[in-house]
Amino acid sequence: MSIAAQESAEEARKLFESVYAAAPAGIFAAPGRVNVIGEHTDYNEGFVLPMAIDRYTAVAAAPRLDGVLRVVSGQGDTGVIEIPIANLAPGERAGWADYPAGVAWAMIGAGALPGDFKGADLAFSSRVPVGSGLSSSAALECSTGLALAALAGKPISPAELARLSQYAENEYAHVPCGPLDQLSSAFGAADAVLHIDTRTFDIAVHPFALGEAGLTLLVMNTKVQHQHGESGYADRRAACERSAQKLGVPALRDLSFADLDRAAAVLDETELRRVRHVVTENDRVNRFVSLLQLGPLEGPRLNSAGELLTASHVSLRDDFEVSCAELDVVVDAALRGGAHGARMTGGGFGGCAIALVSTDRLDRVAETVSESLPQAELFTVVADRGAYQVL
Ligand code: ADP
Ligand code: MG
Repeated sequence: MSIAAQESAEEARKLFESVYAAAPAGIFAAPGRVNVIGEHTDYNEGFVLPMAIDRYTAVAAAPRLDGVLRVVSGQGDTGVIEIPIANLAPGERAGWADYPAGVAWAMIGAGALPGDFKGADLAFSSRVPVGSGLSSSAALECSTGLALAALAGKPISPAELARLSQYAENEYAHVPCGPLDQLSSAFGAADAVLHIDTRTFDIAVHPFALGEAGLTLLVMNTKVQHQHGESGYADRRAACERSAQKLGVPALRDLSFADLDRAAAVLDETELRRVRHVVTENDRVNRFVSLLQLGPLEGPRLNSAGELLTASHVSLRDDFEVSCAELDVVVDAALRGGAHGARMTGGGFGGCAIALVSTDRLDRVAETVSESLPQAELFTVVADRGAYQVL
């Protein structure tokens, strides 16, 4: 049970009833996520450490019998969109409805929905900020997948939900994302972070009850989204794949610190910095997890954890070059205000940063950040459960 999910569920129900003039058959919710550490490692088969957050996309749903999928969203920029099931096929990118339509298409293709699936009415309501790096897209996909599977009476596992949601985003919405976001939304757990090996998809769950340790995770939404974000992401991905090829490894995940000397002889200067980010970031994830395994974050362990977060930001800023002025401003301000560590989270080029803060310093940190970037929207998050049927 998540109170945050229930609030969004109520909003989705109201939207459903007002738009479709009927009661939904069920309500489903999937969370956004904060990636605590491990950025731009997921498409290099490396390690990530996300948590699902207490902000959800809920969908109220009912089956149809006429072969039509209808979708509406409180956060969409359109009214109701009707898509005949027979027409589901990836084409030009059309808009927000590509995400739920893509999930239906992926599920039918994989046999997760029956071939004669007859359609559904879906109404979404979300408290995940849209387009800010907290994975509103994965929340939209995972809530859709859970709803459609339940309507069809074919339960779907979290692993399958994540896999088909990522497939839909890659192939139908044409966004070349790795598996991080969908795995976080599908597998999230209350008061826990997920240590995910994105090569094997092994997931280890570690306690992350920050409140009990007197800590708070502050999200700082810069409210900017830079134009070159999409091309920048594709460019970084390509540089990583090219470098792995030049170095004769299946993925950058296969490199260690010792390989960086060899890499210097084979790669150009930019490629070398991209590779160095991935190698050092994977190491930071695993060191962060080792700290968690030693017990609650306090004393020297807390200092070390904070330093790893900040080192991740510096590496993303200088070596991977996916930060931006606004993200750097809020990270620096949080640290000046007394945060233990801070970093951009998500793909970068705008969106959100996070800061690990002692709860008794929260006001001070928030004040410093607000003074430095008045437009920033600040809120705290806790780790909450992954996608589930609310009602
Ligand atoms: P992020 O996943 O970090 O929020 P993305 O760019 O990956 O950012 O996804 C944002 C896009 O997902 C939006 O532009 C919109 O098309 C779609 N989207 C996400 N959530 C919703 C929602 N609740 N209603 C309508 N569209 C949404
Ligand atoms: Mg997204």
